[in-house]
Amino acid sequence: MRGNIISYIEMCQKEGSNSLQRGMNFRLRGGHSVILMSLRTNAPYQDEIQEEGTVLIYEGHDAAKQKGVLKPKKLDQPEYRKTGTLTEKGKFHKAAQGYKAGTKGPDIVKVYEKIKSGIWSDNGFFHLVDSWIQSDGQRNVFRFKFVAVENVVDESTSEDLKNREVARSRIIPTGVKLAVWKRDGGKCVTCGAADELHFDHIVPYSKGGTSLKVENIQLLCARHNLQQSAKIQ
Ligand SMILES: [Zn+2]
Repeated sequence: MRGNIISYIEMCQKEGSNSLQRGMNFRLRGGHSVILMSLRTNAPYQDEIQEEGTVLIYEGHDAAKQKGVLKPKKLDQPEYRKTGTLTEKGKFHKAAQGYKAGTKGPDIVKVYEKIKSGIWSDNGFFHLVDSWIQSDGQRNVFRFKFVAVENVVDESTSEDLKNREVARSRIIPTGVKLAVWKRDGGKCVTCGAADELHFDHIVPYSKGGTSLKVENIQLLCARHNLQQSAKIQ
C-alpha cells in the first residue's frame, strides 16, 4: 500500500528479488518495473516531485563503476551496453517512447523511496509516460516522467484495460515524511508499535485532506491503519 514503511529486506522480499541494488529494474520477473528514489539532500540523483505529488521526474542512473573508466558522474548516461544490448535506462526509455508513439500501454512501475538509512517508503504504483535526454551542464542524462496511479490492474490484464484512465494519486513529500517520522518517534501514535508502519492521512484525500501538511499525516501501525480506514468508510 502506498505510504507503507518497510525495511530493505522486506522491500526485496515483496519484489521477489534477492537484492535490489540497482536504482532501476525493468520489468522484474516479467511484471512491473521497480525504481528506487531518494530526495534526501545528499542524494546522488536529481529526482523531483511535481504537480502536488502526482508526478515524479526521475533521473536515470549512471553507468556502473569500472576499472580504468572515468568517473561515471562525468560520462553521458549510456543507452546501450558495450555488447550492444540496452541498459536498464535504455529499456525504460524505449518503453516510454513506445507509449508516447501509441504503440503500447504505459509500463507499470513501483516506486520505493529511501527516507532514512535502512528505512524505505512504498510510494506506490506509477505509469511511465515520458522520457528524454538532457544536459545537466556537464553531460547528458536521462529523465523519466512517472504519473502516480491509485490502483493497478494485474499485469495479465489486456492492453485495452491498462489504457483506461486511472484515478490520479499523490505522494507525500519527503520533507513531510521526515518531519512526521521525527515528531512521532518512528512509532505508531496509537500503540507505540515500531513495525509495519504506514504514513496515514488524518483527513483523507477524499474528504479534502492534504498530504502537504505535517499536521495531516501521522504514523500508524498496520492494525491501527486498518481500523482508521474502516471508521472512515
Ligand atoms: Zn498501532
